[in-house]
Amino acid sequence: MKNENLQFDSKCVHSGVGEYEHGSVVPPIYQTSTFKFENAAHGAALFKGDVEGYIYTRMKNPTVEAMENAVAELEGGHKALGCASGMAAISTTFTALLKSGDHVVCSKSVYGPTLTLLQTVLSKFGVEATFVDTDITEEIEKAVKPNTKIVYVESPANPVIAITDLEAAAKIAHANNALFVVDNTFMSPALQQPLKFGADVVVHSMTKFLNGHADVVGGIIVVKNEDDYKMMRRILNQMGGVIDPFNSFLVHRGLKTLAIRMQKHTENAQIIAEYLEKHPKVKWVRYPGLKSHPNYEVGLKQHSAPGGMISFELTDGFKAGEIVMNNVKLCKLAVSLGGVETLVQHPASMTHLTMGEAARATAGITEGLVRLSVGIENVKDLINDLEQALVKIQ
Ligand code: PLP
Repeated sequence: MKNENLQFDSKCVHSGVGEYEHGSVVPPIYQTSTFKFENAAHGAALFKGDVEGYIYTRMKNPTVEAMENAVAELEGGHKALGCASGMAAISTTFTALLKSGDHVVCSKSVYGPTLTLLQTVLSKFGVEATFVDTDITEEIEKAVKPNTKIVYVESPANPVIAITDLEAAAKIAHANNALFVVDNTFMSPALQQPLKFGADVVVHSMTKFLNGHADVVGGIIVVKNEDDYKMMRRILNQMGGVIDPFNSFLVHRGLKTLAIRMQKHTENAQIIAEYLEKHPKVKWVRYPGLKSHPNYEVGLKQHSAPGGMISFELTDGFKAGEIVMNNVKLCKLAVSLGGVETLVQHPASMTHLTMGEAARATAGITEGLVRLSVGIENVKDLINDLEQALVKIQ
């Protein structure tokens, strides 16, 4: 049976898996940097591209390729390129698609280092960027210029789980001959497949939901056609930020449970978001599964479930955030997201502390903002843990 005829959860189990020596049911780990040629003619044919095969792991490796094929299939893409981290995927994408004089329209709500990459690194090479609230479609329209080459969004995005209308953003990008690039880290292809809504390239931090076990740093670029793939592969090979075989193996193993994990993350997050929304110590909650989310209706069009990420604002600001951080027991106090364990963080006292209050306010990071990456534990245990921490706020 061909994988394309399978349902998504079956694809998670079978994608990227071929036939292997000794009947191994999972792809072997080819933990090798290089591959032996049969003879000089074979080496020459490989380098010329006249025969299929492997030369050197930075260029191509069977274990990495198996994982790449799996992610490409799950995203509904043509092929994928495994990278050393989410940032390697993002920086390779920008490097491949931009040149001096080009302009990027980017979400204001975007992973911090992506913003910094555009502002401080790509700017050195003559790339200009405008940051707008892409969850307000008109803002994208106003920001595009004749030299805009990429419209780049994360949806949903930090810090307030902002949802951008993917179809509308793609239309604006394409009307301006620009490409539409989506960071799909928060949803994963189990819940949202941006290529269906007009994205040209999808990137992920595989460190998060795709791997799902908080034990790998990795990224991926998914493309729609062979020409883009060949061009991106050349750039990735030259930039060098490839993922290694062992991490690829771990991600591929994680993918098998992606559908079932995302279902449980969502079930738990919905219950927790509703509990928090009624809590007297909570001012507001942003979760795509709550009708109070400003772009709730947009979300319904483009994701099949609201996912595992919640942001909420405590009524008593910074101090309350610190109290919650110091009192949670089951929820782990850590940055990152998308693993089976629930993680909690308070940007004002942690990731964004050194920015200072004024800069935080401009970036929309309020003093009592807490971000939860909801895991797959029993939701009663998670609510008990949050409750005993919230009651400590006087
Ligand atoms: N994109 C998003 C949405 C992220 O949250 C992160 C990391 O937190 C990244 C990209 C970068 O990924 P990595 O840490 O794997 O480089």
